[in-house]
Amino acid sequence: MKYSEIREILNSHGIQLTKSLGQNFLHDANQLEKIAAAARLTPEDQVLEIGPGLGPLTELLIRSNAKVLAVELDSRLIPILSERFQGIENFELRHGDGVVLMKEDRDWQEWKLVANLPYSVASVMLVDAALNPRCFKRIVVTLQWEVVNRIAAAAGTEDYGLLSLLLQLRYNVLDHFKIKRGAFFPPPDVDSGVITLERRSEELLSAELRPLFVKIVKLGFSQRRKMMKKLLKSQWSETVLTDAFQRLGLSDDIRAEKVTLEQFALLTQIINSTL
Ligand code: SAM
Repeated sequence: MKYSEIREILNSHGIQLTKSLGQNFLHDANQLEKIAAAARLTPEDQVLEIGPGLGPLTELLIRSNAKVLAVELDSRLIPILSERFQGIENFELRHGDGVVLMKEDRDWQEWKLVANLPYSVASVMLVDAALNPRCFKRIVVTLQWEVVNRIAAAAGTEDYGLLSLLLQLRYNVLDHFKIKRGAFFPPPDVDSGVITLERRSEELLSAELRPLFVKIVKLGFSQRRKMMKKLLKSQWSETVLTDAFQRLGLSDDIRAEKVTLEQFALLTQIINSTL
């Protein structure tokens, strides 16, 4: 979908794009192809696209012959999309809110999520998607570049934090690449990028222990400059924490940003065994 086509469709329908809905439409054919390729779709796949916009990515997803479900919040775009993809068997369009959908207790295990997400709600949607016990098998999403870096970050780096841990608990980061601002209409105020996540074949923690992991990580990062043990003391006793830190080889003055995902997972198991 070319830049001129996007403008023409919007003009002919009298649509002014809405900033709060993150309506920066991608018109660079190469980038769209790269996103679709990263999804590795086959006709056996089921794919969810949140925010199809005018459908440039949707078109490529449909072409793979995968079963495509697109959920768009902006009611003005629904008739345009319905007309564009009318009669296509492997396509279903729903008017709805992706934020609400990601909070629902659904089984996405056999699904892939592929989307150019509305940036203001992208992190919330991804965290909810990753916390779902039956989460997507692959996620390929366009986000602010800063958020891409936070998801992919390793312990000890500035970008490492809650988002890295909540996503990496369930997913391996396979790849990420930058997209220049000019690839969008209108160009966003920030840089963007695409990240590909693949669900871990072996879970690091069982579903029952994940809420405790989230609690520990949230508390550990609640004040970044403070020592993690001190922060955790508001919930667990000195004895439990001293023993757990010793068993993991963590110094008493360590900050959460230096603690690896595997150490957080083990800490969760040790603390849980004392409850
Ligand atoms: N996929 C299109 C593209 O690549 O050009 C549009 C992407 S645009 C960044 C984000 C899209 O998400 C817009 O179409 C916007 O209307 C839609 N959107 C915003 N908030 C949404 C939500 N909560 N649920 C579903 N769609 C949403």
